[in-house]
Amino acid sequence: MIIAYALFAVMLGLVIGSFLNVCIHRLPLRESIVWPASRCPHCRAEIGAGDNIPVFSYLMLRGRCRACGAPISLQYPIIELATGVIFGGAFLLFAPPLLYARLVFACAMIVLFVIDLEHRILPDRITLPGIALGFVLSFFLPPGWRDSAIGLVLGGGSLWLMGEIYFRVRGEEGMGFGDVKMLAMIGAFLGWKLMLLTLVLSSFIGSVVGVGMIALKRGDMKYALPFGTFLAVGALIAAAIGDRLVSWYASFYY
Ligand SMILES: [Zn+2]
Repeated sequence: MIIAYALFAVMLGLVIGSFLNVCIHRLPLRESIVWPASRCPHCRAEIGAGDNIPVFSYLMLRGRCRACGAPISLQYPIIELATGVIFGGAFLLFAPPLLYARLVFACAMIVLFVIDLEHRILPDRITLPGIALGFVLSFFLPPGWRDSAIGLVLGGGSLWLMGEIYFRVRGEEGMGFGDVKMLAMIGAFLGWKLMLLTLVLSSFIGSVVGVGMIALKRGDMKYALPFGTFLAVGALIAAAIGDRLVSWYASFYY
């Protein structure tokens, strides 16, 4: 039974992942995400419903546009699969109604992850409604409105402060305000404890990846790492297992 449930969640995630691909592609271009229908970016041919089945269509078409044969980015099926896996995990970890809030949150993190990686921006069209939605939901769901409000203010404030210090010390912009708004959104959805955990996790993952990239001589660390990408990974981990991590950590003090 639990397997059928998880499978349903993965299938739902694949379909939602397909929609997230549209958001990822169109939000940076400031296009509508509901209209028009998907087109091949190469020949502009409309992609029919039969060729728009998550992952499956990509495999059937062998990663090429049916009309012009141009290669379709592997990114599409990867994002669909990743969303499917994350949905499956969320269904096992959370019960409704918190489940729905965490799914919406996860979708936002996936979109921000990719857009920041590709364009070095974190669109206000996601972060600002995200801050509002996270705070409103906290009146009915964990972490509760107080933790959410503290998380929102502390999340936005702490990154803003770090950016200011970096600017004073180094004389250059370290972080954009997009990161500030994103962390405020994470604080609003997850509360201040998991927001702080997100900051620790994403800084840690960022350092590990950064050191790895320097070791592989893949370029300058400062330009290689959009922080929002790591915030998204940190936030997904914090949302999934953060409560257990926090209570484990607190058990050493109480
Ligand atoms: Zn085409």
